[in-house]
Amino acid sequence: MQDEQLEPSPEHANRLTDALRRYWGFDSLRPLQRRAIAAAMAGRDSLLVMPTGGGKSLCYQLPPLIDNRLDVVISPLISLMKDQVDGLNEVGVPAAAIHSALTPEQRRDIYSRIHSGKLRLLFTSPERLVGERFLSMLQALDIRRFAIDEAHCISQWGHDFRPEYRQLAMLKERFPHATLHAFTATATPRVRQDIVQQLALDTPEVIVGPVDRENLVYRVVPKVDVERQTAEVIARHQDEAVIVYCISRKETENVAAWLAQHGIEARAYHAGMDNDERRRVQDEFASEKLNVVVATVAFGMGIDRSNVRCVIHTGLPKSIEHYQQETGRAGRDGLEAECVLFYSAGDALKWESLIVKSAADAPDPEPVIASARQHLQDMARFASAPACRHRVLTEYFGQRYEKLNCGACDVCLEEIDTIPESTVIAQKILSCVARVEQRFGVGHVVDVLCGADTENVRKFGHDQLSTYGLLSEMPRKAVMAFVYQLLDQQVLARSGGEFPTLRLNTASVQVLRGEREVKLVRPPAGTRKQTARAQADMTGVDTQLFEHLRQWRRTVAQNRGVPPFVIFADTTLVHLARIRPTRQATLRLVPGIGEKKASDFGNDLCVQIATWCKQHKVATDQLQ
Ligand code: ADP
Ligand code: ZN
Repeated sequence: MQDEQLEPSPEHANRLTDALRRYWGFDSLRPLQRRAIAAAMAGRDSLLVMPTGGGKSLCYQLPPLIDNRLDVVISPLISLMKDQVDGLNEVGVPAAAIHSALTPEQRRDIYSRIHSGKLRLLFTSPERLVGERFLSMLQALDIRRFAIDEAHCISQWGHDFRPEYRQLAMLKERFPHATLHAFTATATPRVRQDIVQQLALDTPEVIVGPVDRENLVYRVVPKVDVERQTAEVIARHQDEAVIVYCISRKETENVAAWLAQHGIEARAYHAGMDNDERRRVQDEFASEKLNVVVATVAFGMGIDRSNVRCVIHTGLPKSIEHYQQETGRAGRDGLEAECVLFYSAGDALKWESLIVKSAADAPDPEPVIASARQHLQDMARFASAPACRHRVLTEYFGQRYEKLNCGACDVCLEEIDTIPESTVIAQKILSCVARVEQRFGVGHVVDVLCGADTENVRKFGHDQLSTYGLLSEMPRKAVMAFVYQLLDQQVLARSGGEFPTLRLNTASVQVLRGEREVKLVRPPAGTRKQTARAQADMTGVDTQLFEHLRQWRRTVAQNRGVPPFVIFADTTLVHLARIRPTRQATLRLVPGIGEKKASDFGNDLCVQIATWCKQHKVATDQLQ
């Protein structure tokens, strides 16, 4: 199905480059963008799988500009359509969206633009598209290309199945002369196959990009005191966007409240909140009035803010697919971003019991449980094995990973902090399990080890045991984390049932006899090393000027009623703060500034930069 040679014709190539420069201010297309666009220009159906930040949108935005036609883009959410239309209007491409939130005047205006022949991109939802009147209008307009964004929504194997997407199956029948172009960041072969089948794509050009997100730094940190640990990570990202993902609604509220008490402005977001409240949080986050959102996975697809610099998981995601999806919201602009997962095997055990409970009502629970368990185990292995995170993720999605050291994960950056006396601590824990005769759960064993004065400790006379208070110099949460690590490494076992008790196994005995070593890890202390990539990103950049420009962007965005990332991506601000142009000629060398933006903001920017640089005695117009 793949045709490596597919390239835009020389004539198209020139016009593409012109449009890319003129509208977007970029110099060249990325290789996969070229292929996807070549397919569209050649009248071939296509499916492009490329991770978030790969640049999928240009692939459907450019072709109608070259052909001077109107193309239709199908998108699942109004907020996504709005961001796209705002972005296109800011670069001067005539685009509009038809959706349920329009006023009658707005609607009339859009229809008249459609019929004037000047519009190039029309966004709409699948449910609106399939309305008979709308369809007839599109047929009368002789639409030749449909782009289907977030195409994984059509597949029930995807993470975001939307039944409305199924209706798109009729596109091929109703528009036999049109080509379809599907776009998604979801990499699994099953979803891909489903998209091709459901849309009835005709010998499509299937383009699958690398799944690895090179600009993400992955860290998995033992969970000890999750609120405090979360606050520490957020402190590394002052004035930057951070999403904290929690498992439950309650937890989002607790964590947000804890952060607020400790001086970090954060808001909770979950599906239990009313619509207005949710929209408010989302809008504040998009407009950079709010930087930290503590959310369940309900905070997801509509989040287009491209400069999310950090995604934190306070609990274990259900699967690697979920993890990839959620961390995928970081660093869409291509600049470095951090993903921190706070891990405890206790979370995996909690999920495990939830899986069984929630599958209990299914007509045939066994396969459901087996599949959920497999996903969970894969996720837990990712978190617990000290292997390069980029490699594990890439290989999970069936691709090869070539680098020996990614330079962008806690393992490769050698941040894993193994405790020197690990085996001794393990022996203390295991002998305590033996002393309480393997009849108690994690909580009680930890109480005994920490020398706690609880009712049960007194009742069973466990304050008389030789292991009582043996680890009392450590915080309770740390001891708890170690017990879970031992469970994870299977040198300690747990009974099933409603009140699981800790049990010894053959491996435990080996550890107790000193025949087997154990490695326990603790959260690394101190500051994190800067990665080579972050250094490269910021070389020559005046960070104070960058902050000043962000402030300027916020004001401009507010005045124009659009989110800041629609005005300029952070990458453009970084270039501005490096080159520091004070003349239009220099300004146009900055990637991300096309003709319209240069004319709308150029003079203002040049004045801003000149004034700032003069005040701070910094050289301007650095062309090297
Ligand atoms: P996706 O939809 O795949 O998540 P986007 O279309 O939002 O990705 O693009 C991600 C970022 O990359 C945006 O900031 C975009 O402006 C930038 N980008 C896309 N294509 C190019 C290119 N050819 N040259 C430079 N920057 C690009
Ligand atoms: Zn690595």
